[in-house]
Parts: sequence; structure tokens; C-alpha cells
Amino acid sequence: IKADLVLLAMGFTQPVAEGVIDVLGLEKDARGNVKVNENGQSSNPKVFAAGDVSTGASLVVRCIASGRKSAQGIHNFLTGR
Ligand SMILES: Cc1cc2nc3c(=O)[nH]c(=O)nc-3n(C[C@H](O)[C@H](O)[C@H](O)COP(=O)(O)OP(=O)(O)OC[C@H]3O[C@@H](n4cnc5c(N)ncnc54)[C@H](O)[C@@H]3O)c2cc1C
Repeated sequence: IKADLVLLAMGFTQPVAEGVIDVLGLEKDARGNVKVNENGQSSNPKVFAAGDVSTGASLVVRCIASGRKSAQGIHNFLTGR
């Protein structure tokens, strides 16, 4: 996959790794969710994740907060902060 940046926000059940997650070679946590740092950035610096795909099954409010955090992380990444 050739892209400048990828944001994954794909699911409240455990994500299916086969496909985009495996193709991108992303690290997963012990529960099979996409592993991200405090900025929502995955093991591939150009791939961010937000919501249940990174936290596992959760609540909409947490999903929104996760999305906002990742959006800020993406902004910082793109602006070199
Ligand atoms: C039965 C049930 C009841 C719930 N009730 C509540 C509740 O009352 N209150 C509450 O706060 N939360 C509730 N939740 C949790 C809430 O729905 C989730 O936390 C929230 O929807 C997660 O949002 P998300 O954007 O991370 O993922 P999702 O809402 O799951 O959105 C992911 C999207 O990505 C798409 N997708 C998946 N894989 C791919 C792919 N490979 N390529 C392209 N698109 C893809 C999916 O089709 C989906 O449209 C409930 C969950 C369930 C299952």
C-alpha cells in the first residue's frame, strides 16, 4: 500500500487482521487490536488508528476521544511537531 498517511477506524469487534492490518504489517496488542502509542500512531509511523480498532470493544464517547487524540497526533506528525 502506497500512501502518505493512513487512518484506521474500523471496528468494534476485534479487528480482522487479514487484509489491511496484515498487509501493512502492523503490530498488535495481546488482544489482537492495533497497537498504538499515546498519539494514536501505530508501529508504522504513517499509520494511525482510532476507536475500537485500537482499544477493543468500548463506548462511543471513548471512541470519539480516541479519534480526537489521533487527529491531533496526525496533525503533529504532518506539521513536524
Ligand atoms: C451491540 C452493541 C451495542 C453497543 N451499545 C453501545 C451503547 O449503548 N453506548 C455506547 O457508547 N457504545 C455502544 N457500543 C459500542 C460502540 O458501538 C463502539 O464503541 C463504536 O461504534 C466504535 O466506533 P468505531 O468508529 O471505532 O468503530 P465502528 O463503529 O465499528 O466503525 C468501523 C467501521 O469500519 C468499517 N470497516 C471495518 N473493516 C473495514 C475494512 N477493512 N475496510 C473498510 N472499512 C472497514 C466497518 O464496516 C464500520 O463501518 C455498542 C457496541 C455493540 C456491538
